[in-house]
Parts: sequence; C-alpha cells; structure tokens
Amino acid sequence: MWSERSQQIAESLTLKLNSMVGTMKAAGETVFNLTAGEPDFPVPETAKKAAIQAIEENKSKYTPVAGEKIVLQAVANYMNRHQPTLAQKNPWTEKNIVLSNGAKQSLYNAFLILVNRGDEVLIPSPYWLTYPDSVMLVEGKPIFLNTRIEGKFKLNPEQLEKAITPKSKILILNSPGNPTGTVYSKKELRALGEVILKSGNKNLWVVSDEIYSEIVYKEAVFTSFLEAVPELRDRTITLNGMSKSCAMTGWRIGWSCASSEATEQIVKIQGHTTSGINSVAQWATLAGLKLGAETFSPMVSEYQNRRDHVLEILKKSGKIKVCAPEGAFYIFIGIGAKLRPGEDSIGFSERLLKEKKVAVVPGTPFGEPKSVRLSFATDKATLQEGCTRLVNFMEEN
Ligand code: PLP
Repeated sequence: MWSERSQQIAESLTLKLNSMVGTMKAAGETVFNLTAGEPDFPVPETAKKAAIQAIEENKSKYTPVAGEKIVLQAVANYMNRHQPTLAQKNPWTEKNIVLSNGAKQSLYNAFLILVNRGDEVLIPSPYWLTYPDSVMLVEGKPIFLNTRIEGKFKLNPEQLEKAITPKSKILILNSPGNPTGTVYSKKELRALGEVILKSGNKNLWVVSDEIYSEIVYKEAVFTSFLEAVPELRDRTITLNGMSKSCAMTGWRIGWSCASSEATEQIVKIQGHTTSGINSVAQWATLAGLKLGAETFSPMVSEYQNRRDHVLEILKKSGKIKVCAPEGAFYIFIGIGAKLRPGEDSIGFSERLLKEKKVAVVPGTPFGEPKSVRLSFATDKATLQEGCTRLVNFMEEN
C-alpha cells in the first residue's frame, strides 16, 4: 500500500530514542540522558521579545515564500561575514537566501532542485543520519566515503578524487560535524575544493551544512566552505539556521544561501510545499542575527568545559576510543571492545539503557555500527553520572 519511497527510509532513530527515554521517565525511572540533539540554553531574550512584538503588531500574514526581505538581507549579511573573501567581490544579497522550516528543509530543497533519479550523492561517513534518507527520498544514490577516528573523521582529497564519477552530483560537507564534532581547517577545505575544481565533472555541487558554525572550541577555527573555495560559488549551497546558535530548534528556522538561479528553483519548489516560514519566527530571526560574540562566547565556553570534563571521565576506560571534538556538542566514541558477537551499537545502547539507565545514540544509523554518540548539551551532574556509569559498563565483564 505504501509507496516504495516511504518504505525505503527509516524512522529517525535519534527521535525514537528520545521517546524511549521519555517513556521510562514517565514510568518514574531516573535516566541519564546523553542523547540531546539540541542546545540546553534558553532562546536569547531579544529574539523572544521580537517574536512577542511581532505578534502584538499583527505581523501574522503569509510572507513571501523566501521570507521577509529585511530578514533575507540580514541573513545575507551574516553569510557575508562568514565568507569575507567571496563577499568582497560578489556579496550575497536577499536574492540568494531562502528561509525554510529548519536547515533540514533547506537540505531537502537542495536535493529536490539538484538530484535526478540515480544521481550519486557523496556522503563522508559517519554522517548526520538524515542525509542518506533524504537523498533516497529524491531517488538519488548515497555513496559513502568512510573516514576514520585515527584521521579525526576527515575526508581526504585522494579519497574524494577516487570517488568522483560522471554520475556524482553532490558532495555533502558538514563542519563542524554531527556526530563527530570534526572541524575542517581552511587548508583542508581548500584541498577538497581543488579536487572538485580539477575533476572532469563540472556538474558536481557542494552542499555545505554549517549549522554548528557558532559552536567551535579553542583548538579550531570555523571556516565556511566558500571562504576556502570561492571559485565554487555557483555550485555550492550553504545551509545554516538558528537552531543550534540561538537554541531555537523548535522555532524551525533554517536557510540556504546559493546563486540566484539556484535560489529561484528553491523558491519555486517551496512555494508548493510549505510556502514562507512562520512569520513571527522571521522577526525573531532578525533579532537573533544581531547578536554577536557576547552572546555566543559564554555558551561556547560552557560547552567546552563540559567537553573537557567528559573527556576526563572517558579517559578512565582503556576500552573507549575517543577523538576529542573540536566543534558542535557531541562526542562520537568507539565501543567495539564491549560488543558481543553479532551485536552492534543498537544492542549495546539498549543494554546500557537497561542496565545503567544511560541513554546514548547508537552509531549504526550514522554509518558506524561500533560507535555511539554522546551529547554534552546537558547539565554537568547528568554528564558526570552518565559518563561514569558508561565507563563502569565498559570495564565490567
Ligand atoms: N544538520 C545537522 C548536521 C544537524 O545535526 C541538524 C540537526 O540536528 C540539522 C542540520 C537540522 O537542523 P534544523 O532543521 O533544526 O535547522
């Protein structure tokens, strides 16, 4: 009865696990939940006030499909700040931006305008679990490029060069990355970009998912892909949004930044799916975009403290493989040493939840069955107890 398209894809496992934890909590059990995919900070006051004001001023009608012009211009300015080299010559304007219901919809819009049946989409693995399923929804073919913990989960240029075929349509990049926290340097992005520039495939695009751009730790510096490879301006769609920077996950505000031709295609499609995003959220976005380092630095420092604390605890088990994340708020750890014969991270996570009441996200749907993802977007007490229990679990026979 259901379409092949629908049957091909899996339920989002991060959402499923959160609901399992919810059920256990509702039954009165204490669970140390390390699964959060969203910040535990409140929405900045100015964004809240702007939303309330917008409601009171009756800014409640349909907006243009791409969004209110003044908001689009503010997003374009934000993108120009991320890509100053490119912006000097050819700055982004409101004609290059579409607001969507989260970067998730922006991603899907990008696939809808670019991918034909059977087109290959190159996905460095481990990956954010939505990538392959949304590629399959548009009948594209996900091609996984495996990266390793020893190489800090980074795709290298040789690997990319080998993977490109005449059918390759998109390379997805995600820095800082979910689930690994990997941050690519400008040099590394440049090297990947050069492979694309030199390849015979002039039809290959980059979708650069930069949703964690504001959450980068002291060892690393965030570089937007086009800042490293401005030559690919007309073949790159950059995604970002308010979910992670301003803790506005539930408000559903993301955007794409792309050439005006690509943007027109996106507008055409979104006009027939969801139209413009919530009008009130757009005014909150305008206020949120005015915030600077004074808002983000304390939040990033707090994440960094928590990250260091978690790394300290995890060090106590020789059986856990760790690569310190340089951005986002996840640690992707190898737990292969504890797996039973035939078991993968899903079975491991279920045992951990049952035996120690610690919830983590299995690595299997991220393309890595011997790893799990911990999130430190939660309070220190939960992290302390949850990670200690995890270490004990790993060390027990
Ligand atoms: N990209 C990555 C890598 C993510 O981890 C997420 C959310 O978890 C998103 C995009 C989507 O963010 P949103 O749709 O809330 O803007």
